[in-house]
Amino acid sequence: MALLPSTAEINLRQRDLVYLLPGGLLVLGGVLLFHLLTLPDQVRGFFAYYPALVLSLGLFLSWRFNRTRLFFALVLLTLADLCLRRFPDGETRVLAIAAAEFLIPLNLAMISFFVERGLLSRPGLLRAGVIAAQPLCLYLAYLASPAVLSNFLIGKPLPWALLDRLPLAQIPLAALLLGGGILAFRFPRHPSAIDGGFLWALVAAIVPLAAGVSGETLTLWFATSGLILTVSLVESSHRMAYRDELTGLPARRALNEELLKVGRTYTIAMVDIDYFKKVNDTHGHDVGDQVLKMVAAKIEEVRGGGRPYRFGGEEFTVFFPNKSAREALPHLEELRHSIEMTGFTLRDVARPNEKPEQPVKGKEGQRLKVTASIGVAERNNFNLTPEAVLKAADKALYRAKEQGRNCVVRSGAKSS
Ligand code: GH3
Ligand code: MG
Ligand code: MG
Repeated sequence: MALLPSTAEINLRQRDLVYLLPGGLLVLGGVLLFHLLTLPDQVRGFFAYYPALVLSLGLFLSWRFNRTRLFFALVLLTLADLCLRRFPDGETRVLAIAAAEFLIPLNLAMISFFVERGLLSRPGLLRAGVIAAQPLCLYLAYLASPAVLSNFLIGKPLPWALLDRLPLAQIPLAALLLGGGILAFRFPRHPSAIDGGFLWALVAAIVPLAAGVSGETLTLWFATSGLILTVSLVESSHRMAYRDELTGLPARRALNEELLKVGRTYTIAMVDIDYFKKVNDTHGHDVGDQVLKMVAAKIEEVRGGGRPYRFGGEEFTVFFPNKSAREALPHLEELRHSIEMTGFTLRDVARPNEKPEQPVKGKEGQRLKVTASIGVAERNNFNLTPEAVLKAADKALYRAKEQGRNCVVRSGAKSS
């Protein structure tokens, strides 16, 4: 029996919205700098180097971090920019704009789905071929018959007058709705810095294009689109280093850094799931992982200003800055209680993607009782350093286990 992660459920938590922040700020910055503010000449002078800088930085990072998604997206945006500069006016420019509006959303959505495989691998080369072939096909179609291409890109398959008032022709609009729709559908289900970046990168490239921005300013927007993707790569790498992948909680490394900055008063709690090995042994590792996620979600809700971390395995840490153990205890007791009350309902692999409306009776709907033991220690004259406080909390945890588990024990006290 295993509980697989659902692909249909929306997993967006409030903290995931942070993934949309850098892209949103860069777009806002673009609006201010490229359109609204009157800038001194030195700043304008910098704009001449900005696209090349973004491209070099992005390509360097994509190579260094082995992220082909960023590489492909940067190449796509650069190709679109070069192509639009090549056709500065006339009927051909109208076609080039429509081609860019058609290809960018579809390709950004497609690239966002790529699993990283390395550019020089077979899938990598195939993907490069698919991306390069599309503008080539449109160009060959143009050479063969501009009228046919024009009919395809800017024709009006639907005779609705309302559509004529939109800034995009019908086929590019359909591509935008499809590509943008895929990215917008995907983000709340698999929130990540990269996917948030792809969404904003699409906005930064397509909105100016559709709004009729041209020349150097359009190049600046394409560069901003590339910068958004580059920043999202840095953001996701930071996350990899500091966040635990399974639970999404800050990882041990983040705790270590937090503990370098402690003040004079603080409390550390170690939380350890009871008999967790038995969950793995009886129901399998996948169920074990789901239980860890459930407990992590509860720990994340801890109140009293407690900051949660995954310490490792089935152990978590809650750090209370500026709180004594006495002040932190009620919040930890509340946490222990909420883990006990939540429990965990098993679901069968045969129907993994939907949450049952009512817990199913029998084995499939069986409820696992999940509890945790908590050891608490504060900084005091006996435990002066974070290492000592952590050790004292661990000792208190050990006593909580000895006292029968599912309880909170404070360092120095008999029990609580
Ligand atoms: P106690 O009540 O004394 O804490 O007993 P326990 O079984 O919880 O403790 P023990 O340290 O014996 O077992 C911890 C288990 O946690 C062993 C290990 O396989 C499991 N574990 C550690 N990390 C993970 C993980 O990421 N996923 C899963 N599924 N299991 C994990
Ligand atoms: Mg343990
Ligand atoms: Mg345990």
